[in-house]
Amino acid sequence: MRSPRPSPRRLALLGATGSIGRQVCDLVERHPDRFALHALIAGSDAAALHTVAHRHPEAHALLANPAGADAALAARAIDEAVRDPEVDLVIVAAAGSAALAPTLAALEAGKDIALATKEVLVMAGELVRERMRRHGSQIYPIDSEHSAIWQCLWGEKESGVRRLILTGSGGPFLRRPVETLESVTIAEALAHPRWKMGPKISVDSATMMNKGLEVIEAHFLFDVPYSGIDVIIHPQSVVHSMVEFVDGSIKAQLGVPDMHLPIAIALSFPDRLEGVAPAPDLAALGQLSFEALDAVRYPAVALAREAGQRGGTAPAVLNAANEEAVALFLQGQRRFVDIVPSVARAVEAAEPAKELTLEAVIVADRWARAHVRASAKGTSRLWSQLPA
Ligand code: MG
Repeated sequence: MRSPRPSPRRLALLGATGSIGRQVCDLVERHPDRFALHALIAGSDAAALHTVAHRHPEAHALLANPAGADAALAARAIDEAVRDPEVDLVIVAAAGSAALAPTLAALEAGKDIALATKEVLVMAGELVRERMRRHGSQIYPIDSEHSAIWQCLWGEKESGVRRLILTGSGGPFLRRPVETLESVTIAEALAHPRWKMGPKISVDSATMMNKGLEVIEAHFLFDVPYSGIDVIIHPQSVVHSMVEFVDGSIKAQLGVPDMHLPIAIALSFPDRLEGVAPAPDLAALGQLSFEALDAVRYPAVALAREAGQRGGTAPAVLNAANEEAVALFLQGQRRFVDIVPSVARAVEAAEPAKELTLEAVIVADRWARAHVRASAKGTSRLWSQLPA
């Protein structure tokens, strides 16, 4: 006698038209017996959402910022969609801070979350953790480094962990002379050597602010102090991250740089799906290399760690200032080398808010964006003059 087939896991997908969202849809189409899309939620690109929705007519399609429509009404519809009793898992892959309110709503409704948007934990990690505890929800990381750490921790005791080691490729400017970073073009910053990603995260990888945000993300996901989280450069992006244990052992997770892998394990946990990506051909690769992080080339990592250690709304200021600075760079209004100094100035100037509430996060976020916009073009300190 065959055991009954489990019914497909029903998914609400925030960020349906982005890079992660499209790969989620791929996996759903490949595994209709396992997954069904209940809601598709996008930002403002109605045409792109229409294309996705056309392939998944069974799902409700919602826009967060519909042109000419009531934004509050749209927010309420999204809130209802993520709390819907029909939904088993909410996938959070919307860009940046727009994902925060729906994530908190989903956690309050007791939903488990597959989280690609690290900004949610950076902005409001303490609020997220408090809601997880109160409502018994889980977060499954989609970020490749955190997925690797999560997998390395399966079956391990917390007391056995010495430190988490996040790997970073170093992005497109690992070998570029630091003094030539002033002339980096938008196209150069978007040309990541290993991963195909959206524009914001590609720029974050080039500054390595992405790795800084990931340090904060790891702190909240795994409840490890900042002193127990390290970053190492690994240009091949095959070792996705590692955990060092008290006995001196290190466990690593390896895979080709393909986001389908961390997405699949977050969606299907505790099962692994068959044939998500080819395993890395280690003999063909020949060599995997590691090197220490250069703090002069990548000041963003120490800056993010500092903001994380300050706590309160400091990480929210870091995140919002960075989003704004990256947006200005992508609009051609700031140089690449202006991004991290303008974030540093916002973090320095911000008033500490000791009690972390959603309102305090929103206020800090708005303040940081205005601070970055107001800082005049071209007055940044040079890259190399940042405090170490
Ligand atoms: Mg990552």
